Amino acid sequence: MSTSEFRLETRAVHAGMEGLSESGSHVPPIDFSTTNPLPGVELGGESYEQLATGGVLLPGQSAVYQRLWQPGVARFEDALAALEGSESAVAFASGMAALAACLLATVTAGRPHVVALRPLYGGTDHVLESGLVGTSVTWTDLDGIAGAIRADTGLVVIESPANPTLELVDIAAVVAAAGGVPVLVDNTFATPVLQRPIEHGATIVLHSATKYIGGHGDVMGGVVATTDEWASRLRHVRALTGGVLHPLAAYLLHRGLRTLPIRVRAQQETAETLARRILGDPAVSRVLYPTLDGCDPDGLLGRQMHGGGSMIALEMAGGYDAAVRFIEALRLVTNAVSLGGVDSLAQHPASLTHRPVAAEARPHAGLVRLSIGLEHVDDLSQDILGALAAAHRTA
Ligand SMILES: *Cc1c(COP(=O)(O)O)cnc(C)c1O
Repeated sequence: MSTSEFRLETRAVHAGMEGLSESGSHVPPIDFSTTNPLPGVELGGESYEQLATGGVLLPGQSAVYQRLWQPGVARFEDALAALEGSESAVAFASGMAALAACLLATVTAGRPHVVALRPLYGGTDHVLESGLVGTSVTWTDLDGIAGAIRADTGLVVIESPANPTLELVDIAAVVAAAGGVPVLVDNTFATPVLQRPIEHGATIVLHSATKYIGGHGDVMGGVVATTDEWASRLRHVRALTGGVLHPLAAYLLHRGLRTLPIRVRAQQETAETLARRILGDPAVSRVLYPTLDGCDPDGLLGRQMHGGGSMIALEMAGGYDAAVRFIEALRLVTNAVSLGGVDSLAQHPASLTHRPVAAEARPHAGLVRLSIGLEHVDDLSQDILGALAAAHRTA
C-alpha cells in the first residue's frame, strides 16, 4: 500500500510498513544479519554489482551484505521520503556522515566548490571550512549567491531555521539565485512536519535524525531526502565509505517518525508560550524565536515554515558571565548539547557547538540555546524564569 494519498500524520504512522501484514508482522522485524546467504554464485555477483554501485535491491536479488543493503534501513528511508515528498532517501550513521556523503558525491562529480550561508550547525561550518573531504567553500549571503557560483560549484548549503540564531532563510529565493546548482537544506530544526524544502525547489534535504526524528536522545543517525539520481550517488558513496545506519537505530528512527507530528507540534506550542513569557525579562536583551515580532522579516512563516518550532535562543543582557550563571542555575532543563528530544536542554553555542566557527562568525557570547521538550509549560517557565532571575540577582 502506498501512503502518498494520505495526509502527513497518516503517512508518519503507516509509511515504510508495506508488506508487513502479509508476512504476519505488525511492526518491522529487526534483521541483524551482516551477510546474506546467496541462492547462487551468478545471482550473488549480479546483486553485488547492482548494490555496490548505488542501485536499489531488485525483486529476486540478494541484499548480499549489510553495508550494501539492509531491509529495516530501507523501510525507514521510504518512510522519510514519504514525509519530505522526495523521490528517495538514504540513511547514514549520523547527520555528519550524511553531510560528508553529500560533499564526497559532489567532489567525485568534479564540482568540489560549495557556496554556503552562515550561520550553520557548527560541525557543518567546520567540515566546510577545513576542506576535510576535498571541498572548498565561499561564505556569502542571499544577495551574494549568484555572484559566488562558479563553473565547479556543486552545492549551495543552507540551514533554516539557522543554528543557533533561528533566522529563517528563503529557500525558494536561494534556489532561484543558485541557478541550477543543487541546493542542500539542513531541515533538522524544522522537520518535515513544519517545513518541506523539496516543495520550494531544494534538491537535497538533510537531517540529523539524532534530533527530532529519534526524539528521545537515545539513537544517532542521519538521513538525506532527495532525487533518485542523487540517492543513487549517495548509496554508492555509502557502500564504499561505510557510514551505514545500524539496524536497531533504523528501527528506532522509523518508530520515532510515527509520533513526530504530535511531538513537534506539542513542543512547538510550549516553546511559543515560553518565548513570550521570557520576552521582557530584565536578564534578557533579546529573545530569538521565529514567531516573535521582528524575527521573520521576509514573511516566511506560513509560506515556508508552519510555526516557530521548539528551539529558542536568548541573548543575556549580562553577556557570557550571565549566560554561565543562567545555565548553571537551571534544575529541570539539562545543560547538554543536542536538541529535539522529549526533555528540554540548554547549551552555550559559542563555547560548545559553535566553538570551531571562525571568530568573526561565532555566536554572541551571551547567547544561550534552548531545546524545548514535552514537560509541562508551567514547570519549564518556573525553571527558566527562576534561573534568569538568579542570573540577574547575582550579577
Ligand atoms: C546535530 C546536527 C547535525 C549533525 O548531526 P549528527 O547526527 O550529530 O552527526 C547537523 N545539522 C544540524 C542542524 C544538527 O543539529
